[in-house]
Amino acid sequence: MTETKEWVVETQDLTRIYGDGEEIRALDGVSLRVAPGEFVAVMGPSGSGKSTLLNMIGALDKPTSGRVLVGGQDLATIRNKDSFRSKTVGFMFQLHNLLPTLTAIENVEVPMMGYLRSRERHERAEHLLSLVGLADRIKHLPNQLSGGQRQRVAVARALANNPPLVLADEPTGNLDTEAGEELMELLRDLNQSQGTTYVVVTHDPAVARQTNRIVVLEDGKIAREDIVSSPLEEDLKMWRHSDLGQRILNGDEEALQTLGIPHSKLEALELVLKNKTQEAELE
Ligand code: ADP
Ligand code: MG
Repeated sequence: MTETKEWVVETQDLTRIYGDGEEIRALDGVSLRVAPGEFVAVMGPSGSGKSTLLNMIGALDKPTSGRVLVGGQDLATIRNKDSFRSKTVGFMFQLHNLLPTLTAIENVEVPMMGYLRSRERHERAEHLLSLVGLADRIKHLPNQLSGGQRQRVAVARALANNPPLVLADEPTGNLDTEAGEELMELLRDLNQSQGTTYVVVTHDPAVARQTNRIVVLEDGKIAREDIVSSPLEEDLKMWRHSDLGQRILNGDEEALQTLGIPHSKLEALELVLKNKTQEAELE
C-alpha cells in the first residue's frame, strides 16, 4: 500500500449501486487520484454521480464495490468513521447547514469539541473567522449574515480541525455571481496558503476554471478530465491580444518605460507572451 501514500485521495474502480429492483449505477468504475495540494473541480450533469462520489470520499456512504483510499488508508478498514471525518475531511455543502441558534464562532467551534479545550477552540475559531474575512461578525447568528458570509462561516468550520482534505458540494450554488467568485477566490487562497487539498463539485464553468483540474462525470463514469492552465497563463492569453501585450511583443520599449515596468520583468513577460517558456519568473 506504500505506493498509494502520495495521493490524498485515490478511488479504485469505485462503484455504487442504489436500489434493489431497478438498480441505479450512481458510480460505475471510477478511478480517480488527487495529489496533495491539488484543487480539483468535479462537473457533470445532474444525476451523474458527483455527490455520490463526494460522499464516498468523505466516508458518508459505502461503495458497492471498489475502494476509496484517503491519505493512503482504505476507508473500509477505518473503524471510527466519525473520528476520521472530523480529523481528515472538512465538508462544505450548498446548504451550509449552520446551526441557526449558534453564533458564527460557535458554529466554527462545533467540530473541535472533543478535540480541543474551550479556550483553544475559541481562539482557533476566531483565527479561522478572521482568515475568511469575518473577524467583525463572530457573534452574529446565521440569519444576521448574508448568504456569502454564511458560506464563509462554513469554510471556516470546514477548516476547523485543519484537515488535509476539503470536500465541497456546490458551495457556490446558492450565491449570486459576485459572492460565488469571492468564495472561490477565498478557497483558492486557502488552498495555496495552507496547502489543503480541495475537491469541489460545481455546475459553474467559471468556478471550475479557477481550479487545477476538471473531472467530468457522466452516468457515473469519468467522461473526461481537463487540466486547467494557471490563472496567470489564462490572463496572459488575454493579455497577448491587448494593446500592452502587443507593444511588448513588438518591442516598443519607449511606450513600456512610461508604464514604469522594470526591464528585468519585461523580459520575462515577453518570453511568456511569446510562449517561449512558461517558467519565466514574473515575481
Ligand atoms: P449528482 O450529484 O451528480 O446530481 P447524485 O450523486 O446525487 O448525482 O446521484 C447519482 C444517481 O444516483 C442519481 O440517479 C440519483 O437519483 C441516484 N441516487 C443518489 N442517491 C440515492 C439514494 N440514496 N437512493 C437511490 N438513488 C440515489
Ligand atoms: Mg449533487
